[in-house]
Amino acid sequence: MDLRYGAEYEEFRGEVRTFLDANWPLSGDEAKLGFEEQAVAFRRRAIAAGYMARAIPKAYGGSEQPADSLKASIIREELGRAKAPGEARGIGTMMLVPTLLERGEPWQKEKWVESTTLGQTIWCQGYSEPGSGSDLASLKTRGELDGDEWVINGQKIWTSGAQHADYMFCLVRTEPEADKHAGISYLLIDMKQPGIDVRPLKQMAGGADFNEVFLTDVRTPKDWIVGKRGEGWQVSRTTLKHERNSIGDAATAEATFRGLLRLAGDSKVDGKPALERPEIRERLAEIEGYVMAHKYSGYRQLTSGLRGENPGIISMMNKLSSTNIGHMVAKLALDLLGDDGLLDPQGKGRNMGFGPRGAEGWLTQYMYSLGIAVAGGTANIQKNVIGERGLGLPRDMAVRKDR
Ligand SMILES: Cc1cc2nc3c(=O)[nH]c(=O)nc-3n(C[C@H](O)[C@H](O)[C@H](O)COP(=O)(O)OP(=O)(O)OC[C@H]3O[C@@H](n4cnc5c(N)ncnc54)[C@H](O)[C@@H]3O)c2cc1C
Repeated sequence: MDLRYGAEYEEFRGEVRTFLDANWPLSGDEAKLGFEEQAVAFRRRAIAAGYMARAIPKAYGGSEQPADSLKASIIREELGRAKAPGEARGIGTMMLVPTLLERGEPWQKEKWVESTTLGQTIWCQGYSEPGSGSDLASLKTRGELDGDEWVINGQKIWTSGAQHADYMFCLVRTEPEADKHAGISYLLIDMKQPGIDVRPLKQMAGGADFNEVFLTDVRTPKDWIVGKRGEGWQVSRTTLKHERNSIGDAATAEATFRGLLRLAGDSKVDGKPALERPEIRERLAEIEGYVMAHKYSGYRQLTSGLRGENPGIISMMNKLSSTNIGHMVAKLALDLLGDDGLLDPQGKGRNMGFGPRGAEGWLTQYMYSLGIAVAGGTANIQKNVIGERGLGLPRDMAVRKDR
């Protein structure tokens, strides 16, 4: 395997650098804008130059470039080097936009894709309910048609970012008589309306990233539905595929591991540098093996995607591998921290792509690694998916559709 970029790609890197030299930091009146507005202004330029929103058609505000994972990683590297804003990352860009592109109506794509891609429109995901997490299809929130509008009543829980969201993509039971998977629709809901009550849930790391959302006679237009009435389950599978791939991102696993190496370099165990201790080196080497395997599986998945092949079991393993790695890394970090591991993290020093910072950062990372193993489908459920769909083992009795 030759992992050098090659002359064609180094030329491309030069073009990206020239673009960045000319466009970041912003100048004139734009430089006086707030950070978020500057990010939006910069993203518009980057899209026009073909360096962002590359998988999104021009008709919906993207730059519609041929898929090229090497160019994508060069762009990420150069944006990081120039400390320029990256693509807007969030539930909207990572889950809703790909779902709309695959399953939405043209007017829905026109209305929401561009502003979400630029980071101007914020979404939350209303799937889970009390009692309906892994067994999501048992959800009870109801939607009834009243003239040209759906009227929605029920409760969602663990809704990340609901307190900041403009809209929610939401699973709602619209056909109470149908089989549980067939009775669900995928509705889009304006969060800024009466009847929506968002109550933050405090987490053990100190923050309150997710919420309970109570919906009382909430209204949404009849055509704010993705896919047909009663076909929301199939649409939700599309979103979940993108959610698990975004959680399984190899760059995050690598960055966190590099942070662990730095920590091991700076820590002492029984008075000796941690990096010199054979038992620590052994654990580091084991984790690095998983990080590398995860990274190259990601490359294989990209390659098969580019060839139009189905990556099969590799894509099913993504989320489980990355959350296992995240947990192993955080656990070793806590062992290295010793007594500092007893601090109150308060959500400080979070991993923003360069590895956690300080003892609090590692504690936050540790607690976060437990949560992310649950979000988007628990580790047990991932194992069921790999076993049943990947390896062809018999179906789990607890989730059979006829029960
Ligand atoms: C950080 C975080 C963010 C989240 N953000 C969102 C969000 O934005 N929107 C949203 O809708 N939801 C969100 N969730 C909710 C998440 O999708 C659910 O927590 C998850 O699907 C599990 O559901 P549950 O919590 O009800 O646990 P349960 O389904 O009750 O599971 C409890 C335990 O039983 C195990 N289990 C259950 N069924 C099986 C089975 N068939 N086989 C083997 N084991 C099984 C599980 O693995 C788990 O260990 C978030 C969760 C977290 C932790």
